[in-house]
Amino acid sequence: MRRKLVAGNWKMHGSLAENEALLGALRPTADTVVGVECALCIPFPYLAQTRQLLQDSAISWGAQDVSEHQKGAYTGEVSAAMLREFGCRYVIVGHSERRALHAEDSLLVGRKMRAAQGAGITPIGCVGETLAAREAGKTEAVVAEQLDALIAESGVGALANAVIAYEPVWAIGTGKTASPEQAQAVHRFIRERVGAADASVAAGLTILYGGSVKANNARALFTMPDIDGGLVGGASLDAAEFSAILRASA
Ligand code: PEP
Repeated sequence: MRRKLVAGNWKMHGSLAENEALLGALRPTADTVVGVECALCIPFPYLAQTRQLLQDSAISWGAQDVSEHQKGAYTGEVSAAMLREFGCRYVIVGHSERRALHAEDSLLVGRKMRAAQGAGITPIGCVGETLAAREAGKTEAVVAEQLDALIAESGVGALANAVIAYEPVWAIGTGKTASPEQAQAVHRFIRERVGAADASVAAGLTILYGGSVKANNARALFTMPDIDGGLVGGASLDAAEFSAILRASA
């Protein structure tokens, strides 16, 4: 179902004390804002703490990665069932940092998406082009390849229980944001491509924008017709900034 969602990606940040302060400062806005769901994707070690602190909150939580496997000799991996035990509603798959730093390809990302859904967790599948690809006019080709791989693994019907995040790599953590028009053009492309396979899945698909979303650009981005919210990195670590982004999306 198409919903408004603003998800924070803490990346490898936080500590027990910092998390407690951040969550406490976020709750007054995140628990009361109307018409938008707030989710936080946090590092694995803090899932138990987050579950305890947010169990009576409207904020959802999740992880930033998941294994494609269910269990076994996969040292260092974390399964979707384990995430489910800690109350994760979402998991990010295929973030560009994992694609670049951990050599994750689109087919692996598709298998991770399927593993998450098998445990009842909604994957947030990330797609997006590098600056070189954009400058070469290959944005749509790159995004299509990444999207098609997700669809190839489980069929287009699987996107009924997934969220897609369009995150141009050149905008992540750089302070450069895609203009609302640039982002909208790719979001529309994504919806149309999914729609070519299944119109009702496309109509219901939540598509987030990610890449240097801040309080001062959130409203312009989130009012575009095919942008259903944001995946927010750096600004999700600042309670005042993230609260303002939530209010801008509501
Ligand atoms: C991200 O990590 O997904 C992200 C969009 O980061 P930032 O908001 O810092 O660009």
